[in-house]
Amino acid sequence: RASRKATADVRAEISYVMIKPDGVQRGLVGNIISRFENKGFQLKALKLFQTPKDVAEEHYKDLKEKPFYPKLVDYIISGPVVCMVWEGDGVVASARKMIGATRPLEAEPGTIRGDFAIQVGRNIVHGSDSPENGERETAIWFKEGELMSWDRTMTPWLVE
Ligand code: UDP
Ligand code: MG
Repeated sequence: RASRKATADVRAEISYVMIKPDGVQRGLVGNIISRFENKGFQLKALKLFQTPKDVAEEHYKDLKEKPFYPKLVDYIISGPVVCMVWEGDGVVASARKMIGATRPLEAEPGTIRGDFAIQVGRNIVHGSDSPENGERETAIWFKEGELMSWDRTMTPWLVE
C-alpha cells in the first residue's frame, strides 16, 4: 500500500557532529564520543580529518557576512577535527542540548560546552541545527561510502 511505501522511504534522522581543533588538541575526543554513545544514538560515520579551506567555507556559508567568519574558518582549519554522523529519532535537537549554548559561559553545566569551554571562538564542538542541515552537512564532510548501516545488538534495549 502507498502508506507503507511512504514510511519505508523515510530516512532516519541524522546529525553531523564535529569535535573542533581545540577539542582534539585538549584531549576531549573520547569524552565527547562517550556522551553520544552513552545516550544511545548510533554512530554512522567517524574520521579524524584535516579540513581544506573550501570545506570549512561551505559548511559555514550561511555565516559568510558575519564579522567573525574569517577567524571562524581559520579556527576550523587550524588542526585536525573529528567528524561524526549520529543517527536516531530526535538526535538533532538532543545533540544541540548535549552540546549546550553557542556561548560557553551561557551553556549549562552538564553540557559539553558548559563543562569544557569559556569562549565562543573556542567552543570545541559543532552539531547540526536542523534535520535538513544534518543531511546537508553530512554530504559536505563525508563521501557516500563512508556512512555505515549496521545492526546494533543493543538497539532493542534502547528503543521499543
Ligand atoms: N562563532 C563565533 N563568534 C560568534 C558566533 C559564532 O566565533 O559571535 C562561531 C562559533 O564557533 C560557533 C560557530 O561560529 O560555534 C557557528 O555559529 P552558530 O551561531 O551557528 O553557533 P552553533 O550552531 O555552533 O552553536
Ligand atoms: Mg550553527
